[in-house]
Amino acid sequence: MSRSTFLEQVSRRVTDSIRQAVIGHHKKSGAVLFSDTTLRDGEQMPGATLEPFEKLRIARALQDAGIHSLDAGFPASSEADVEAIRMMIGVITRPVLTALCRTVRSDIDAADRALEGNPPHKRGVSLFCGTSPLHREYKLCKSKTEVLGIIEQTVGYAAEKFRIVAFSPEDASRTEVDFLCECYRTAIRAGATTIGFPDTVGFLTPEKSRTFMRAIRDGVPELEKALLAVHFHNDLGLAVANTLACIEEGANVVQCTVNGIGERAGNASLEEVVMALTLHKDQYGRHHRIDTTKLAPLCQLVAELTGVQIPLMKPIGGNNIFATEAGIHQDGLLKNPDTYLPFRPEKVGAGGISLVLGRHSGRKAVAHRLSELGLPCFDEDVIAVVELIKRQPKGVVIDEASLRRLSQQASEARRSSGANQYSAKISGHGIGHGNDGAVAGGTNAG
Ligand code: MN
Repeated sequence: MSRSTFLEQVSRRVTDSIRQAVIGHHKKSGAVLFSDTTLRDGEQMPGATLEPFEKLRIARALQDAGIHSLDAGFPASSEADVEAIRMMIGVITRPVLTALCRTVRSDIDAADRALEGNPPHKRGVSLFCGTSPLHREYKLCKSKTEVLGIIEQTVGYAAEKFRIVAFSPEDASRTEVDFLCECYRTAIRAGATTIGFPDTVGFLTPEKSRTFMRAIRDGVPELEKALLAVHFHNDLGLAVANTLACIEEGANVVQCTVNGIGERAGNASLEEVVMALTLHKDQYGRHHRIDTTKLAPLCQLVAELTGVQIPLMKPIGGNNIFATEAGIHQDGLLKNPDTYLPFRPEKVGAGGISLVLGRHSGRKAVAHRLSELGLPCFDEDVIAVVELIKRQPKGVVIDEASLRRLSQQASEARRSSGANQYSAKISGHGIGHGNDGAVAGGTNAG
């Protein structure tokens, strides 16, 4: 054996033992590792194109939020992706940066060049190859044996250049389960450190996702040497539910996007998965390293830079999540915000609770707001203003200016009718002072 071959073998063995130590550590810790794909799968959404400097801004925010790895782009497909990745080198230092590759050597070479300079434990590739009958027959025109050969060769090639190599059988959820397991076994033997389970067309239910996880666990003994990652699309509105089901079944890595943006109906939403895990730690028994107070600002940033607006009712990031117009809810929130919220705004870094004044609002919220603005708020004032609000046209939200105007109208009406202004204030225990610092109060003008 020549000296160089000997050294190569030693270095390969050292790399292998480092790989195994890292994987063993992650598995033993029980952590759910978040791999964000906002900048790659998210950006694939029509109209969500990002400039490289915008990707860098989002990558920084994801890094601050504590993401484990970042699907930074598809170097072989786009020069802009290469540029964005180059901007991240040396700046995005905490998460692992990964690049997407087809199972072709030139893609792996392009990823290698794009990620040059990032330390070995912070750079990886994510290889994908269609494995379902539809993909084999119509897209690749390859037999099962040929697909296995491609996986073996390209994963092996990637493992020579990268310490971190993920392999995902595209359309895994519509692949025959025996063949799927064979693909995984081949990939791990060839050097994959993570195997992915993508529900590429967002087709599964939580129960069927669980069944897949169990089948993979049983059919891939090599899995003790690799991490299992899941990637769900939201075509049935089940991406988050499926992701959580797989976490319960032992998935190590979850791939998500901020605001759930992505192809068609989008991907599993990062912020929703994080909050479900956070609030139900007793059920999942798994920890994560995401700082939940960074979530709402992250959602805003992604919406702003992609131009994809957050729907009003979108969990975690939507504008209505901490806003209510209903009198009974407003009264409860003023007494204790937890009465009508699953978590407080500060938990996700959101601005605060908005008590929106409108036709559904009651006296307590109106009194609270009048007192905040220093407007008259005796019983009669409040009753008169509530009456005026109820007469407003459908859909009108009372902002500060209109509340001032209505208060003025009510006062004038009362003065002209000679009402007694020394009567008692609306009993406002806990309203506007004291124990509800979390209530930022105020109407929502928009
Ligand atoms: Mn996808």
